[in-house]
Amino acid sequence: MNRTKKLSCLGLGILLAACQGEARKAEPKADITEDQIIAYPEYSGEEPTEPEATEFYEPVPPVVDPTGKNGVPSDAIVLFDGTGFDHWVMARDSTEVVWHLNEDGSMTVKDKTGDIQSSQNFGDMQLHIEWRSPAEVQREGQNRGNSGIFLSGLYEVQVLDNNDNPTYVNGQVGAIYKQQVPLAKASVPSGEWNTYDIIYHLPEFNENGQKIKSGTVTVIHNGVVVQDHTEIKGTTEYIGWPKNPPHGKMPLKLQDHGDNSRVSYRNIWVREL
Ligand code: MG
Repeated sequence: MNRTKKLSCLGLGILLAACQGEARKAEPKADITEDQIIAYPEYSGEEPTEPEATEFYEPVPPVVDPTGKNGVPSDAIVLFDGTGFDHWVMARDSTEVVWHLNEDGSMTVKDKTGDIQSSQNFGDMQLHIEWRSPAEVQREGQNRGNSGIFLSGLYEVQVLDNNDNPTYVNGQVGAIYKQQVPLAKASVPSGEWNTYDIIYHLPEFNENGQKIKSGTVTVIHNGVVVQDHTEIKGTTEYIGWPKNPPHGKMPLKLQDHGDNSRVSYRNIWVREL
Protein backbone atom coordinates (compact mmCIF):
# COMPACT_ATOMS: atom_id res chain seq x y z
CA MET A 1 0.00 0.00 0.00
CA ASN A 2 1.44 3.38 -0.94
CA ARG A 3 1.74 6.25 1.57
CA THR A 4 -1.29 8.22 0.26
CA LYS A 5 -3.53 5.14 0.42
CA LYS A 6 -2.25 4.32 3.89
CA LEU A 7 -3.09 7.85 5.09
CA SER A 8 -6.58 7.82 3.61
CA CYS A 9 -7.27 4.41 5.20
CA LEU A 10 -6.06 5.80 8.51
CA GLY A 11 -8.38 8.81 8.08
CA LEU A 12 -11.30 6.54 7.30
CA GLY A 13 -10.42 4.40 10.32
CA ILE A 14 -10.48 7.44 12.64
CA LEU A 15 -13.80 8.57 11.15
CA LEU A 16 -15.30 5.10 11.64
CA ALA A 17 -14.00 4.92 15.21
CA ALA A 18 -15.44 8.39 15.92
CA CYS A 19 -18.82 7.37 14.48
CA GLN A 20 -18.81 4.18 16.53
CA GLY A 21 -17.87 6.28 19.57
CA GLU A 22 -20.89 8.49 18.91
CA ALA A 23 -23.07 5.43 18.64
CA ARG A 24 -21.66 4.00 21.89
CA LYS A 25 -22.29 7.27 23.76
CA ALA A 26 -26.03 6.82 23.39
CA GLU A 27 -25.93 3.52 25.25
CA PRO A 28 -24.25 3.60 28.67
CA LYS A 29 -21.97 0.71 29.47
CA ALA A 30 -23.76 -2.12 31.22
CA ASP A 31 -21.82 -1.62 34.46
CA ILE A 32 -22.92 2.02 34.82
CA THR A 33 -26.33 2.39 36.41
CA GLU A 34 -28.72 5.25 35.62
CA ASP A 35 -28.19 6.88 39.04
CA GLN A 36 -24.41 7.07 38.46
CA ILE A 37 -24.80 9.27 35.42
CA ILE A 38 -24.44 12.96 36.28
CA ALA A 39 -27.61 14.79 35.35
CA TYR A 40 -28.71 18.39 35.90
CA PRO A 41 -32.49 18.51 36.44
CA GLU A 42 -32.43 22.32 36.21
CA TYR A 43 -31.05 22.05 32.70
CA SER A 44 -33.40 19.38 31.45
CA GLY A 45 -36.75 19.48 29.71
CA GLU A 46 -37.50 21.37 26.59
CA GLU A 47 -34.45 23.16 25.10
CA PRO A 48 -34.80 26.96 25.62
CA THR A 49 -35.05 29.02 22.49
CA GLU A 50 -34.60 32.50 24.06
CA PRO A 51 -31.44 33.79 25.86
CA GLU A 52 -33.56 35.16 28.75
CA ALA A 53 -34.67 31.64 29.66
CA THR A 54 -31.17 30.88 31.02
CA GLU A 55 -30.45 34.24 32.73
CA PHE A 56 -30.87 34.46 36.52
CA TYR A 57 -30.99 37.52 38.81
CA GLU A 58 -30.95 35.79 42.21
CA PRO A 59 -29.21 35.18 44.52
CA VAL A 60 -27.27 38.43 44.29
CA PRO A 61 -23.68 37.92 45.59
CA PRO A 62 -22.49 40.37 48.26
CA VAL A 63 -20.17 43.14 47.15
CA VAL A 64 -16.59 42.78 48.43
CA ASP A 65 -14.02 45.51 48.09
CA PRO A 66 -10.93 43.43 47.25
CA THR A 67 -8.51 45.93 48.73
CA GLY A 68 -10.87 47.33 51.36
CA LYS A 69 -8.66 48.24 54.32
CA ASN A 70 -4.87 48.05 54.04
CA GLY A 71 -5.19 45.86 50.98
CA VAL A 72 -7.38 43.29 52.78
CA PRO A 73 -10.79 42.30 51.35
CA SER A 74 -13.56 44.23 53.07
CA ASP A 75 -15.32 41.12 54.44
CA ALA A 76 -12.17 39.45 55.80
CA ILE A 77 -11.47 38.81 59.48
CA VAL A 78 -8.02 40.22 60.16
CA LEU A 79 -6.21 37.82 62.51
CA PHE A 80 -2.87 39.60 62.52
CA ASP A 81 -1.95 43.02 61.23
CA GLY A 82 1.19 43.57 63.28
CA THR A 83 -0.42 45.51 66.12
CA GLY A 84 -0.73 42.66 68.60
CA PHE A 85 -1.84 39.15 69.41
CA ASP A 86 -5.47 40.00 70.26
CA HIS A 87 -6.80 37.19 68.05
CA TRP A 88 -4.34 34.53 69.25
CA VAL A 89 -3.56 32.44 72.32
CA MET A 90 -0.97 29.84 73.23
CA ALA A 91 -2.36 26.54 71.93
CA ARG A 92 -1.40 24.49 74.98
CA ASP A 93 -3.35 26.45 77.60
CA SER A 94 -5.07 29.43 75.93
CA THR A 95 -2.85 31.91 77.78
CA GLU A 96 -1.42 35.11 76.32
CA VAL A 97 0.89 34.70 73.32
CA VAL A 98 4.60 34.95 74.16
CA TRP A 99 5.96 34.86 70.59
CA HIS A 100 7.95 37.91 69.44
CA LEU A 101 5.99 40.90 68.16
CA ASN A 102 8.27 42.79 65.78
CA GLU A 103 8.36 46.47 64.92
CA ASP A 104 8.02 45.76 61.18
CA GLY A 105 4.48 44.44 61.62
CA SER A 106 5.40 40.77 61.81
CA MET A 107 5.63 38.14 64.53
CA THR A 108 8.34 35.51 65.03
CA VAL A 109 8.12 32.09 66.63
CA LYS A 110 9.63 32.17 70.11
CA ASP A 111 11.56 28.95 70.37
CA LYS A 112 10.21 26.15 72.54
CA THR A 113 7.26 28.15 73.84
CA GLY A 114 4.75 26.10 71.85
CA ASP A 115 2.24 26.61 69.04
CA ILE A 116 -0.19 29.49 68.93
CA GLN A 117 -3.79 29.33 67.73
CA SER A 118 -6.58 31.68 66.79
CA SER A 119 -9.08 32.51 69.53
CA GLN A 120 -11.83 32.06 66.99
CA ASN A 121 -12.93 28.75 65.49
CA PHE A 122 -13.21 28.50 61.74
CA GLY A 123 -14.93 26.22 59.27
CA ASP A 124 -14.51 26.48 55.52
CA MET A 125 -12.22 29.35 54.76
CA GLN A 126 -10.05 31.35 52.45
CA LEU A 127 -6.84 32.11 54.32
CA HIS A 128 -4.13 34.57 53.41
CA ILE A 129 -0.88 34.34 55.36
CA GLU A 130 2.66 35.53 54.73
CA TRP A 131 5.75 33.87 56.16
CA ARG A 132 9.48 34.26 56.07
CA SER A 133 12.37 32.01 57.02
CA PRO A 134 15.53 33.71 58.24
CA ALA A 135 18.00 35.03 55.65
CA GLU A 136 20.83 33.56 57.67
CA VAL A 137 20.38 29.82 57.15
CA GLN A 138 21.13 27.27 59.82
CA ARG A 139 20.97 23.47 59.96
CA GLU A 140 19.48 21.25 57.26
CA GLY A 141 16.44 19.33 56.11
CA GLN A 142 13.44 19.58 58.42
CA ASN A 143 15.46 21.64 60.88
CA ARG A 144 15.83 24.71 58.67
CA GLY A 145 13.10 27.31 58.99
CA ASN A 146 10.39 24.79 59.86
CA SER A 147 6.96 25.93 60.96
CA GLY A 148 3.50 25.09 59.72
CA ILE A 149 -0.07 26.19 59.31
CA PHE A 150 -2.49 23.72 60.87
CA LEU A 151 -5.95 23.95 59.33
CA SER A 152 -8.57 23.11 61.95
CA GLY A 153 -5.50 22.83 64.19
CA LEU A 154 -5.02 19.31 62.75
CA TYR A 155 -3.86 19.36 59.13
CA GLU A 156 -0.46 20.90 58.43
CA VAL A 157 0.45 22.89 55.35
CA GLN A 158 4.22 22.75 55.67
CA VAL A 159 6.32 25.88 56.08
CA LEU A 160 10.01 25.18 55.48
CA ASP A 161 13.13 26.81 54.13
CA ASN A 162 13.71 24.37 51.26
CA ASN A 163 16.11 26.56 49.32
CA ASP A 164 19.14 24.37 48.50
CA ASN A 165 17.84 22.16 51.25
CA PRO A 166 16.32 18.89 50.06
CA THR A 167 14.19 16.78 52.37
CA TYR A 168 11.51 14.11 51.96
CA VAL A 169 9.18 15.53 49.31
CA ASN A 170 5.96 14.93 51.23
CA GLY A 171 7.44 17.08 53.98
CA GLN A 172 8.80 19.86 51.82
CA VAL A 173 7.49 23.40 51.63
CA GLY A 174 3.88 23.44 50.40
CA ALA A 175 3.31 19.77 51.25
CA ILE A 176 0.32 18.55 53.18
CA TYR A 177 2.68 17.09 55.70
CA LYS A 178 3.43 13.42 55.01
CA GLN A 179 0.35 13.17 52.77
CA GLN A 180 0.61 15.14 49.58
CA VAL A 181 3.70 16.29 47.71
CA PRO A 182 3.27 19.84 46.37
CA LEU A 183 2.91 20.28 42.60
CA ALA A 184 5.87 22.67 42.60
CA LYS A 185 8.37 24.36 44.85
CA ALA A 186 7.66 28.05 44.54
CA SER A 187 9.65 29.62 47.38
CA VAL A 188 11.25 33.02 47.24
CA PRO A 189 14.85 33.35 48.50
CA SER A 190 15.41 32.76 52.21
CA GLY A 191 14.76 35.94 54.14
CA GLU A 192 12.07 37.21 51.74
CA TRP A 193 8.32 37.07 52.35
CA ASN A 194 6.31 34.15 50.96
CA THR A 195 2.54 34.21 50.55
CA TYR A 196 0.17 31.32 51.00
CA ASP A 197 -3.41 31.66 49.81
CA ILE A 198 -5.33 28.66 51.01
CA ILE A 199 -8.86 27.46 50.34
CA TYR A 200 -9.91 24.88 52.88
CA HIS A 201 -13.06 22.86 53.32
CA LEU A 202 -13.74 20.89 56.47
CA PRO A 203 -14.27 17.14 56.44
CA GLU A 204 -17.76 15.95 57.35
CA PHE A 205 -18.66 13.32 59.93
CA ASN A 206 -21.86 11.40 60.61
CA GLU A 207 -23.55 11.21 64.00
CA ASN A 208 -21.38 8.22 64.92
CA GLY A 209 -18.27 10.31 64.36
CA GLN A 210 -17.29 8.49 61.17
CA LYS A 211 -15.90 10.56 58.33
CA ILE A 212 -18.30 10.66 55.41
CA LYS A 213 -16.58 13.33 53.34
CA SER A 214 -12.90 14.30 53.24
CA GLY A 215 -11.67 17.81 53.82
CA THR A 216 -9.98 19.47 50.86
CA VAL A 217 -7.28 22.08 50.49
CA THR A 218 -5.97 24.25 47.69
CA VAL A 219 -2.71 26.09 48.32
CA ILE A 220 -1.34 28.88 46.16
CA HIS A 221 2.29 29.62 47.05
CA ASN A 222 3.50 32.98 45.79
CA GLY A 223 0.86 32.83 43.04
CA VAL A 224 1.67 29.22 42.05
CA VAL A 225 -0.84 26.42 42.69
CA VAL A 226 0.98 23.81 44.76
CA GLN A 227 -2.04 21.91 46.13
CA ASP A 228 -5.02 21.60 43.82
CA HIS A 229 -8.18 20.67 45.69
CA THR A 230 -6.19 18.02 47.56
CA GLU A 231 -8.07 15.45 49.61
CA ILE A 232 -7.00 15.58 53.25
CA LYS A 233 -6.72 12.00 54.47
CA GLY A 234 -6.57 12.84 58.16
CA THR A 235 -4.26 14.38 60.72
CA THR A 236 -0.72 15.04 59.54
CA GLU A 237 1.28 12.88 61.93
CA TYR A 238 5.05 13.02 62.37
CA ILE A 239 4.94 9.29 63.19
CA GLY A 240 1.98 7.12 62.25
CA TRP A 241 -1.02 7.05 59.92
CA PRO A 242 -3.44 9.93 59.51
CA LYS A 243 -6.21 9.93 62.13
CA ASN A 244 -9.77 11.14 61.66
CA PRO A 245 -11.21 12.46 64.91
CA PRO A 246 -14.63 14.05 64.35
CA HIS A 247 -14.67 17.82 64.63
CA GLY A 248 -16.49 20.95 63.57
CA LYS A 249 -15.14 24.48 63.48
CA MET A 250 -11.69 24.66 65.05
CA PRO A 251 -8.93 27.23 65.62
CA LEU A 252 -6.18 27.86 63.11
CA LYS A 253 -2.80 26.90 64.54
CA LEU A 254 0.79 28.03 63.81
CA GLN A 255 3.68 25.76 64.68
CA ASP A 256 6.67 26.24 66.93
CA HIS A 257 8.90 23.46 65.60
CA GLY A 258 11.05 23.74 68.70
CA ASP A 259 14.44 24.11 67.02
CA ASN A 260 14.90 27.87 66.92
CA SER A 261 13.33 28.07 63.42
CA ARG A 262 12.93 31.87 63.69
CA VAL A 263 10.10 31.75 61.16
CA SER A 264 8.06 34.96 61.00
CA TYR A 265 4.45 35.62 59.97
CA ARG A 266 2.55 38.71 58.95
CA ASN A 267 -0.66 39.89 57.31
CA ILE A 268 -2.99 37.05 58.25
CA TRP A 269 -6.65 37.22 57.31
CA VAL A 270 -9.53 34.84 56.79
CA ARG A 271 -12.69 34.98 54.71
CA GLU A 272 -15.25 32.50 55.95
CA LEU A 273 -16.79 30.53 53.13
MG1 MG B 1 6.27 22.07 60.05
